[in-house]
Amino acid sequence: MIRALIQRFGSLGVTIIASLLAITGSIGMTAIYDLAIKHAIPHEDLLIGAMASATIAPLVIYWLATLSHELYQSEQRLSALSQKDPLTGAYNRRYFDEQSRIECARSHRYGQSLAILMIDLDKFKQVNDTHGHAAGDEVLKTIVQIGTKALRKSDVLARFGGEEFVVLLPHADIKEATMLANRLRKNIEEAEIKAGELELRVTVSIGVSIQAADESDITEMLSRADQAMYNAKHGGRNRVEVMPAPVS
Ligand code: GH3
Ligand code: MG
Ligand code: MG
Repeated sequence: MIRALIQRFGSLGVTIIASLLAITGSIGMTAIYDLAIKHAIPHEDLLIGAMASATIAPLVIYWLATLSHELYQSEQRLSALSQKDPLTGAYNRRYFDEQSRIECARSHRYGQSLAILMIDLDKFKQVNDTHGHAAGDEVLKTIVQIGTKALRKSDVLARFGGEEFVVLLPHADIKEATMLANRLRKNIEEAEIKAGELELRVTVSIGVSIQAADESDITEMLSRADQAMYNAKHGGRNRVEVMPAPVS
């Protein structure tokens, strides 16, 4: 409730509103007390009641509102951190698992399409071996930046492990997913990746799969995307391969 008010009016707004309420309350209480005890309401009593609350209430309320807002921001940051891979800023595997469960169930229920891309960097060990692990890290970060730029807000790009990424594409059919995979592959191939003094070029192999009508979880889709990605590797790397959904 307090959080909702702070979100809406800001800490200062809440302080002003709550202080006015506190001052009104204090004047009211003073009046009731005076009436009960003195059977009269001296003006100076009301003034003292108003002055006391006008001095103390804003300070205490502003302090509490600021504290509550900072707590909220920390919680938000913590929640974002628990969903992200610390190196690249891509979503982590746990978040992907959660989202894919939700999206799979939804698309299965409503008969909507859902696709995934499995992306693996080509010969990435060589990048590390030749230019060092730090340069390899820069490459991973840049891949995520390129991916994020090419995707919609509702798509989920996650680091699946090591130099492997997965993208969940809600509402995408096989044609759209393949087009996106090809665009990504090309963008990555053409990127000049800065790593300190170096400018590196890398390529990726991408496997595409879509949800079959009778599938309500991601397991089989993932293994088809994985298979497609391995086909891309065996086909010469720097390419996209598609594994169609089985017909039931
Ligand atoms: P392929 O084309 O067959 O995929 O070859 P590859 O070299 O990419 O595959 P391999 O599995 O042999 O090597 C993966 C490399 O990815 C090895 C590992 O050191 C590197 N790697 C995994 N995670 C990280 C990381 O966080 N940072 C860096 N710099 N390298 C990583
Ligand atoms: Mg690789
Ligand atoms: Mg790999």
